[in-house]
Amino acid sequence: MAEPTIFERIIDGSIPSEIVYKDDLVTAFKDIAPKAENHILIVTNKPIPSVSDVEACDEVMLGHLLIVAKKIATDLGVAQSGYRLIVNCGPDGGQEVPHIHMHLLAGGKLGGLGFPSKD
Ligand code: AMP
Repeated sequence: MAEPTIFERIIDGSIPSEIVYKDDLVTAFKDIAPKAENHILIVTNKPIPSVSDVEACDEVMLGHLLIVAKKIATDLGVAQSGYRLIVNCGPDGGQEVPHIHMHLLAGGKLGGLGFPSKD
């Protein structure tokens, strides 16, 4: 069996994190290295490695990521002022953790698309 991802360990509580939302399908917590004033990760509880691995049966769960993103944006007070949602996919997409997650970035005017290069 594959080693659990760091996000699975956050979801099961074996690694501490600042969880801001959790339900049967997704868990959301603060990014440990925020790239904006507010930087939340919304993670599927099911450990699918990346968007390239999703299947039709995951459709409801994946749609739910957006519903939860809207809720968190509303709770943060940025639903109208704006925010950015990012899903990195694979090595060239800058994905570091092989467990599907959506970044929610907010707080002031954001810069150009994407994070600064990690190189
Ligand atoms: P990605 O590059 O899209 O895979 O994003 C992975 C994100 O996970 C990065 O923004 C990291 O800062 C974040 N991250 C890694 N470990 C933790 C952790 N223990 N708690 C919260 N965020 C984390």
